[in-house]
Amino acid sequence: MISKEGTATIQEFLEDTSNLKSGWSPGVFFPENCDEAAALLRDAVADGRRYTVAGNGTGTTGGRIPFGDHVIAMHRLNRIGEVEPIDNEHATLRVQAGALLQDVQSKAAAAGWFYPPDPTEKTCFIGSTVANNSSGSRSFRYGATRRYVRAIRVALPQGDLLEVARGEYVADEAGRFALDLPIAGAVSFRRPDYGMPATSKHNAGYWSAPGMDLVDLFIGSEGTLGIVLEAELELRPAPERVIACLVWFMNEDELFAFVDQARSGAAGVTPRAIELFDRRALDFLRHVYPDMPLNTKGAIYVEEETTAAKEEGCLEAWMTLMEACGAPTELTWAAIDDAGVSKLREFRHQLPVQVNEWLRRQSETKISTDMAVPDDKARQLYELYRDACDAEGFTYIIFGHVGNAHLHLNILPRDRSEFDRAKNLYRKLVSEVLAMGGTLSAEHGIGKLKSEYLVQMYGPEGIREMVQVKKALDPYLVLNIGNLIPSSFYQPET
Ligand SMILES: Cc1cc2nc3c(=O)[nH]c(=O)nc-3n(C[C@H](O)[C@H](O)[C@H](O)COP(=O)(O)OP(=O)(O)OC[C@H]3O[C@@H](n4cnc5c(N)ncnc54)[C@H](O)[C@@H]3O)c2cc1C
Repeated sequence: MISKEGTATIQEFLEDTSNLKSGWSPGVFFPENCDEAAALLRDAVADGRRYTVAGNGTGTTGGRIPFGDHVIAMHRLNRIGEVEPIDNEHATLRVQAGALLQDVQSKAAAAGWFYPPDPTEKTCFIGSTVANNSSGSRSFRYGATRRYVRAIRVALPQGDLLEVARGEYVADEAGRFALDLPIAGAVSFRRPDYGMPATSKHNAGYWSAPGMDLVDLFIGSEGTLGIVLEAELELRPAPERVIACLVWFMNEDELFAFVDQARSGAAGVTPRAIELFDRRALDFLRHVYPDMPLNTKGAIYVEEETTAAKEEGCLEAWMTLMEACGAPTELTWAAIDDAGVSKLREFRHQLPVQVNEWLRRQSETKISTDMAVPDDKARQLYELYRDACDAEGFTYIIFGHVGNAHLHLNILPRDRSEFDRAKNLYRKLVSEVLAMGGTLSAEHGIGKLKSEYLVQMYGPEGIREMVQVKKALDPYLVLNIGNLIPSSFYQPET
């Protein structure tokens, strides 16, 4: 197995897109098959090592950044199998964790199928998207990665390799799972007792629901319960056509009326994505897209799947809705072919890219939210962010998955004092969002940056329940320590 040492050589593994600094590691291992990955974990205690799992470093929460641990990098476990049709509506594709999301999507498309989860960043690894239950704009129609995982192969922290297909291990009435493993022996634990938020997207802490499947416990556990080595993904038929529109608005009331109508489908539209850009987000992109209309108060990006026969009617329905909501239709950017849709999707992708570029040139890092609230409270969330930031005089942008009431607020502090104030504000916003029935993270996960706030969401008891699950599978605490669960919760209670 290849390994690398030396800070200069492994520098890229000490970073992700969180801007979290000061990661360090004695070395990085690159397993080339499942057995090699499992063997590293099996020998961890004897070797005196802890491990942090690395995907491709596009994570935003410091999850893959090691603080003294060795790194297990998934880069060489990157094979993609062949598409296997099940019936007209479903096919499967077996992938290894280090395959790029964009390559998995291309492989499905080349066979006439479609892999719906679509985090905006396509260079992430597919295994990471499973470990983080990633999602993107299409989650409005299709939901998150969880829905498309039929089976996974995981390396458990004591070195067992476990293949779990849906339906094989299900929590009993008391919420217990029982496993009999070759290395770890009999392992039993109870799912956490906490309730889940009433949001349509949620990715904060271990998944827990009555009668839940063990596959769902691993999905979104951010590598704390095992390394996802392979997954059997579910594919759907590729849509015949997709149309996309970027709709500009001159005031916020009209923008949110459009969102409400589009969401409800009452206007005869059935979007798969509804995305928001606030005025400031548009300003951020203006140097890349100088032909953007001026004086707009925001924009909504929508996508809908259709057929060649229905395409014209579909576009007309959108135009009618835009007019009804007061959007200046002559300004709308509409796309009806693949190239045009890709260009508009790139517009959406450029926003986080440009923010990250801008941040790399700053001394301060951003404060960013990934919270969602129940679907009918999207505007409330928007106004909460906008009013709070205006009151503080911050530079900020608001954008994202408004169809799922999931908006990203990025505060861009100009100096340390603003950074400190922004952090204080973040804590207050977390409280407000939780009080609205929301979630701390809808898609990016918790990682190292947000673990302290998870206590606000579940309370100390909820975190202790997660620790019990973690310790049942990882009694020697060798894997992804510091992610998700605040490290202080591993200390024995006094
Ligand atoms: C511009 C931009 C846009 C983005 N847009 C979206 C979006 O729309 N939706 C979204 O959900 N996310 C988005 N993200 C976040 C990010 O792309 C996802 O979280 C992605 O899943 C991270 O993949 P990665 O391979 O880069 O993982 P890394 O950053 O390397 O790791 C992320 C975490 O996963 C763990 N991990 C990695 N691989 C495994 C494995 N095989 N088994 C167990 N644990 C593992 C790591 O330990 C770490 O905790 C965006 C990021 C950027 C930079």
